Amino acid sequence: MNNSISIKNGIVYDPLNKIEGEKKNIYITNGAISEKPHPDAKIINVDGMIIFPGGIDIHSHIAGPKVNAGRAFRPEDHIIDPIPKTKKSRSGVGYSVPSTWITGYRYAKLGYTTVVEPAMPLMEARHTHEEFLSTPIIDKAAFPLFGNNWFVMEFIKNKDYDRLAGYISWILKATKGYAIKIVNPGGVENWAWGKNVDSLDDHVLHFEVSPREILEGLAKVNEILELPHSIHVHGNNLGHPGNYKYSLETFKTMEKINASSGHNNVLHYTHCQFNAYDGSNWGDFCSGATEIAKYINSHNHITVDMGQIVFAKAATTTMTADGPWEFALHHISGMSNWGAKPGVKWINGQVEGESGSGLVPYYFDPKIGVNAIQWAIGLELALLINNPWKIYLSTDHPNGGPFIYYPKIVRWLMDKKTREDMLNNQVSKKASSNTTLTNIERELTLNEICIMTRAGPAKCLGMKDRGHLGIGAIGDISIFNLDNKNLNGHDIEKAFSNSEYTIKDGRIVVHKGEIKASPIGTTLISEGKIKEDTLNNTLKEIKQHWRDHYSINFNNYDIGEYYTPKKKIMNNI
Ligand SMILES: [Zn+2]
Repeated sequence: MNNSISIKNGIVYDPLNKIEGEKKNIYITNGAISEKPHPDAKIINVDGMIIFPGGIDIHSHIAGPKVNAGRAFRPEDHIIDPIPKTKKSRSGVGYSVPSTWITGYRYAKLGYTTVVEPAMPLMEARHTHEEFLSTPIIDKAAFPLFGNNWFVMEFIKNKDYDRLAGYISWILKATKGYAIKIVNPGGVENWAWGKNVDSLDDHVLHFEVSPREILEGLAKVNEILELPHSIHVHGNNLGHPGNYKYSLETFKTMEKINASSGHNNVLHYTHCQFNAYDGSNWGDFCSGATEIAKYINSHNHITVDMGQIVFAKAATTTMTADGPWEFALHHISGMSNWGAKPGVKWINGQVEGESGSGLVPYYFDPKIGVNAIQWAIGLELALLINNPWKIYLSTDHPNGGPFIYYPKIVRWLMDKKTREDMLNNQVSKKASSNTTLTNIERELTLNEICIMTRAGPAKCLGMKDRGHLGIGAIGDISIFNLDNKNLNGHDIEKAFSNSEYTIKDGRIVVHKGEIKASPIGTTLISEGKIKEDTLNNTLKEIKQHWRDHYSINFNNYDIGEYYTPKKKIMNNI
């Protein structure tokens, strides 16, 4: 077993290396892409099938305390989707919040090999990494939450960006994190007092900083540290009619941030669909996607992911660090959206001095106007933003729907006929009258899908060792049984639902949709560039104030090395 494979006669898509549908052999030697075949390599012939780099999910809630709270409070979610054990895989349960082992298997079957958990409360980092350790096959990264953190807001109030950089770098090391995540900046701290923020210039109670200052301060420090990814932002006012204007305001405020050497974009604006709403209330609710796309098409400092909603067979479990939004959703859904009767439940969470969270089950109903419009907005964004390097596929799993529905989304993006069938026969007419989806002719190509699910996220995350098939890249590959000369909606969805082969670090982990091996993946970490004495001075100051902020001892905060036996530090070089 030397993790060496020769893949013969596949049709290769490798957008980062400008290869689009070429018949080629791909060689993997000892787990990495090589120029020549290893003499003892296993040979597989995939004549006519398509070859992509392993999939990369830039935003999916798969591990940590709120994910586990989601498992615990919805037993009805599991009984609809039990998964038996096989010779090579463990048993478990789905549906919208699968158990950890099932999460790894299901991603691998879809051809995904790297997944980002985008919301790790700092103090709950141990829990997040414990779940990573029992999520097999895929590589994982976690984003610590900084947008409502007391130390962060104090440093920003004092305009002390050196200390802020020291703090961020220390937290990334202490929690084994990857990038700066910001959720409803300022709003979640105000939620501890029963309030939210209304605009970018509203005030955070007791801290006298604004959401705008938090965003600018963290974006500035992201570039000082030269982190591989940009700041990763869940905007203010998520989920509310008219919020596209706040999104544009956020984009504009980032225009003045200078990107560090490694990347062009200074802002990744996540699950954009939920922040692309026009109208002033739920009665006149309509799409703001055209305005968002127009801005993104004419600027290069932003990337987004879709946050597509799907019409799943059962309610999904929404979960976010945006506590006030889940409170609002709990009220909205309690009044109008219990057709599927998932039960009126709500969890509110608070992590001392750091962040909050909330969970609510929610059923997206195709016959309800607002839900149909939300569905159309996600697709509008992906189809109206011209450059696929700027928008990536996501459902904000499990918020817009479980990730197992990705093949259906790919079908909607690639096949106009399927969209027309949805608009004419399946969803409320509001999707046609209140969005522009009916007028969009564009059908994405296989190459564009490969960018949105692999090459684009790799570039945006600054993960240079993956998302492509160049010499030296890790041997993560997905192979789909699909004829690129004869594409139709049905075949596209079928092929992407179960990979012919998924290869992880040169090892076959899935064949014909079945798990063949489940190695443990690597935890990806980044720390940023920081001077030793800046870090030490910051820590000295933090220690002095520690007991004002926390009920736990400073020495117990750093999670140590135990939880990351297999790690890779991805600094921006
Ligand atoms: Zn999210």
